[in-house]
Amino acid sequence: MPPFMGNAAIGRLLAECRRRDTLHHAYTFAGPDGVGKKRLALQLAKSLNCAAAPAGLDACDACVSCRKVDSGSHPDVQVIAPETKVFKIDQVRALIQEIYYLPFEGRRRVFILDDADRMNEEAANSLLKTLEEPPESSSLILITANLYALLPTIRSRTQVLKFQPIPVRELEAYLREHAGLPALQAAAAARLSGGSVGLALSLDMEAVAAMQESAFELLTVMAHPNDAALFKHLADAFPPNKSPELMLQILISILRDLVIMDFFQDRDHVMHNDRMETLKTLRASFSPPVVEYLLREVEELYRKRHLNLRLDTYIQNAILRTRALLLRRIEA
Ligand SMILES: [Zn+2]
Repeated sequence: MPPFMGNAAIGRLLAECRRRDTLHHAYTFAGPDGVGKKRLALQLAKSLNCAAAPAGLDACDACVSCRKVDSGSHPDVQVIAPETKVFKIDQVRALIQEIYYLPFEGRRRVFILDDADRMNEEAANSLLKTLEEPPESSSLILITANLYALLPTIRSRTQVLKFQPIPVRELEAYLREHAGLPALQAAAAARLSGGSVGLALSLDMEAVAAMQESAFELLTVMAHPNDAALFKHLADAFPPNKSPELMLQILISILRDLVIMDFFQDRDHVMHNDRMETLKTLRASFSPPVVEYLLREVEELYRKRHLNLRLDTYIQNAILRTRALLLRRIEA
């Protein structure tokens, strides 16, 4: 994986600080889950201790030190996560004691505190003292998805670097080229994950493929005046007790294909370009205004997905309204 995907500027900043020997003693890496915060913290730790002593954030990935960091067994590079819902005070005390030791075998000790916002006041206050008297040969990196849940006094004593969600195009390319996902699934996962690599990789892509099939079937039966078939496919596409989010996203992606396929000659712009025949059939049954109407309806539902609405009823109504529109046009 390219180590600083989506947050290249933060990687460049840290690399530059390292070259100039101006690294801060304590950082807070803040931003959504799954965008590479811990990965970058470990890369920095690895490069600081790599036997090849590279510049910037590079590491040889082959020396004993690099391999120990990769396997989580380097005595000078520690990732500490809360053992319970919040950090135990003993965990933080042990860290504070250790942080003043000289490196055992590397050049610099690096302590990475994951979910750092999950600290009670006692733990946070004891950490504060360490931040006020920073150790010479150790660095502390706090990682959090909730920057403002950290005590302001802790925030202000660290250098805060804000990570952003990864842009869809970049994430899609990564999923295709480095995680081996087929183009269609990569595109779906990138759009569905809100810019989080972690979330994109955790999606069950077999389930996504099945849902894409189900979405195509639903759209196909919409063009036919057979109520029983329509309701069966609606029920398949939106099973009760399952979040409709993914299915709505998939429907949006197919409808967007139907909108844009007339404008682009090359298939690259069409997300479902492995289903060109089905898309053409759909395109022949739905007039452009109907496609646009349906797209607006589904996008509206997607925006409402976090509200506590009876989404299944909304979805059914939206589909039926569009279908009525569609059938009137076919009859006329
Ligand atoms: Zn190395």
